Amino acid sequence: TGGNALDRALDLITEIPDFPEPGVLFRDLTPLFGDPSGFAQVIDALGEAVGDGVERLAAVEARGFVLAAALGYARGLGVALVRKPGKLPNVAGRVDYDLEYGTATLELPIGSVRPGERVAVVDDVLATGGTVAATTELLRTAGAEVTGVAVVLELTGLAGRARLGAVPVHALRSV
Ligand code: AMP
Repeated sequence: TGGNALDRALDLITEIPDFPEPGVLFRDLTPLFGDPSGFAQVIDALGEAVGDGVERLAAVEARGFVLAAALGYARGLGVALVRKPGKLPNVAGRVDYDLEYGTATLELPIGSVRPGERVAVVDDVLATGGTVAATTELLRTAGAEVTGVAVVLELTGLAGRARLGAVPVHALRSV
């Protein structure tokens, strides 16, 4: 690694063993978010990963919001903000899904997407794919067309890509 500016930016991601559960190697993007040129490199690369013909971005709180907000500004795209439960007064849809340990819920606000709109999902880490799959389901139920998924880091051992079916997944780095 370290061959070019994007590699150097991705090398800022650190690994923390046994968080949040024993046996999980947590990928910490904090140093990347804190580095102006590294952050810009990653946002530009995500923009290429998302490609053309996209009408909106969607992201899950909280790290997904940071990436999608910057990318939305850079590309002139609005962002659909998928929330953890209990935050929204105006819920269009709700999905419960399984995590490696336990379950989780995501909610989409009313008015987030238009029928037929072409939406790309942005997130920091693709692990089991449960979060992105739930987001895709919420967007489709609301009438959107999910054109693809762009993530900074893909953990290939957890086979998240397989869970997403035919939706194209672009990862800036796969480990
Ligand atoms: P997933 O299993 O793909 O649904 O991942 C759930 C969410 O947890 C993703 O949006 C990631 O932000 C986060 N996540 C999962 N595994 C890790 C990991 N090893 N390191 C950092 N974040 C993770």
